[in-house]
Amino acid sequence: MKIVKNIAEMSSLRPKLTAPVGFVPTMGYLHEGHLVLVRRAREENPSVAVSIFVNPTQFGPREDFAQYPHDPGRDLALLEKEGVDIVFMPSAEEMYPPGFDSWVEVSKITEKLEGTARPGHFRGVATVVAKLFNIVHPDRAYFGQKDAQQLIVIKKMASDLDMGIEVVAVPTVREPDGLAMSSRNTYHNTEERKQAVVLYQSLNLAQKLYVEGERDARAIREQMTALIKRQPLAEIEYISIADAETLDELDRVKPPALVSMAVRFGKTRLIDNVVV
Ligand code: AMP
Repeated sequence: MKIVKNIAEMSSLRPKLTAPVGFVPTMGYLHEGHLVLVRRAREENPSVAVSIFVNPTQFGPREDFAQYPHDPGRDLALLEKEGVDIVFMPSAEEMYPPGFDSWVEVSKITEKLEGTARPGHFRGVATVVAKLFNIVHPDRAYFGQKDAQQLIVIKKMASDLDMGIEVVAVPTVREPDGLAMSSRNTYHNTEERKQAVVLYQSLNLAQKLYVEGERDARAIREQMTALIKRQPLAEIEYISIADAETLDELDRVKPPALVSMAVRFGKTRLIDNVVV
């Protein structure tokens, strides 16, 4: 496994990789959710590249960039075990040298949900992923359904800008109790961690109501809200039932619909979703 820290070295190694190349961008502090993406890339491609980069431009000024957890030694050992060919782990200076001033903006779908809650977040995400695509030149790139809006934004960017990269969606990996795995789960104290399972429970409730014939989005949202509010530490930021492609809010639930939410527990903000 080659560990590459600068763009020039990545460019010189890239032609030596057997195509197709599968690529998994991450911010590190890897867990089973990341490793499932890596395994899928490994199964489907003769060459696999993974990036580890905590991208400063996708964090807001009051967000957790400075506290974001990291353990590169452990990450590299895990990736080595998965048979990854190249790990690209640049510094922030390498990715954003002085004078950097070009940005990728995906419109409309970035103005909703996470985009409303985190202004500028998707501009940072789209820009860094475009840069990583231009540096790594993958044939396929693997993203988690856990970050559903991010996946939609990346698919749209790759298609609108004719990047010629297949964006592959990988289902959310969960803890045994249903909590979606996340590098940020380490922020929780014991009580918050216990209550956080309510996100998954509320998504199951939405799915159950839909299967039983409920089509009124407001009625489903109200029941989800009531369930989440039973947890005293939960502060709901949004609960959305939207068209899974345009992210327009729905009055009547029509598949495929994205049921998604952001809920705070103490200082930790959790997101989760299901497509019905
Ligand atoms: P991150 O390191 O948080 O930027 O995540 C890197 C990639 O892993 C993104 O495509 C995420 O959607 C994906 N990912 C993170 N957590 C999970 C999970 N629990 N299940 C599936 N994919 C995940």
